[in-house]
Amino acid sequence: MPKTMKIDMHAHHFPRLTRAEADALGGAGGAGGPWLRIDADGAHGQIMQGDRPFRPVDRVLWDAQARLDDLDRQGVDLQISCATPIMFAYSAPARLAADWCARMNDHALDFASADPARLKVLAQVPLQDLELACREASRARRAGHVGVQIGNHLGPRDLDDDQLVDFLTHCARDDIPVLVHPWDMMGQGRMAKWMLPWLVAMPAETQLGMLSLILSGALERIPRSLKICFAHGGGAFAFLLGRADNAWRHRDIVRQDCPNLPSSYLDRFHVDSAVFDARSLRLLAEVHGTQRILLGSDYPFPLGEARIGTLVQEADFLDEAERQALLSGNALRFFSLAEGAAPA
Ligand SMILES: [Zn+2]
Repeated sequence: MPKTMKIDMHAHHFPRLTRAEADALGGAGGAGGPWLRIDADGAHGQIMQGDRPFRPVDRVLWDAQARLDDLDRQGVDLQISCATPIMFAYSAPARLAADWCARMNDHALDFASADPARLKVLAQVPLQDLELACREASRARRAGHVGVQIGNHLGPRDLDDDQLVDFLTHCARDDIPVLVHPWDMMGQGRMAKWMLPWLVAMPAETQLGMLSLILSGALERIPRSLKICFAHGGGAFAFLLGRADNAWRHRDIVRQDCPNLPSSYLDRFHVDSAVFDARSLRLLAEVHGTQRILLGSDYPFPLGEARIGTLVQEADFLDEAERQALLSGNALRFFSLAEGAAPA
């Protein structure tokens, strides 16, 4: 039996941006643009935000050949990579952000050019300006990006915001798949320790994004053709969907903008598989269905799946057809990639 193709659709890259380049680009929002400080050994480094270290990182984050070598070791046929959310620039002036996003997207294509059959990329857009965001999303799609990644909110505005709904509608009409990534986490003041923003707030951010689309009625207006995938298995969404359904049944303030039971919108969403626990993956399979889960690792960060695809490969509740769907079939369909898009 041929080996199942493995496509990882949630991974990150960061370009070799110098501080001067980040500053010259206008920065990504006030505190100084993000840039990459590479250690003398060339193998390790630090994502910097102005003068402040943001996250220690390794060569595979910025070096496409090192990435490809690692994907070989891991048996990953194709990886779809996107910006690290610190690069979003949503709080910068719109035109600066548009210029920044275009440059970052060109950097991304340059990264993928090391092997375009095995590395593909999602674009980032200046979400703070609808017209510029739509224009960059479509430009990037034509230039070779296979979709866009957006943050789950824009400051105080969630995915039910008119501008964000219009952007998603544009993506539906222009056949641009969307990955929604949690970022800029809520409740920071009470989560100073233990990476709690990543452990508690991130799953809540994702759940907030999904429920905002449902409870606002936005999904009644956005075309059904929208392909939208939420990171980290949709965060807390699947586990707490019953709570939302129960609230919808019993409280008119939950129903006021949403004509149908929250769980009736499940077929509008995809989620990735980055949940790190077989029981959680099983819940996703039961709630979302095995046709709507895509292998996603969050590589190469420490909170990602170190051995990409292990959870799906070892899940004993999946039959072989379901496993293949999670490992590659669903991603091929979601991103409209041809079968055999990458060498097995
Ligand atoms: Zn991620």
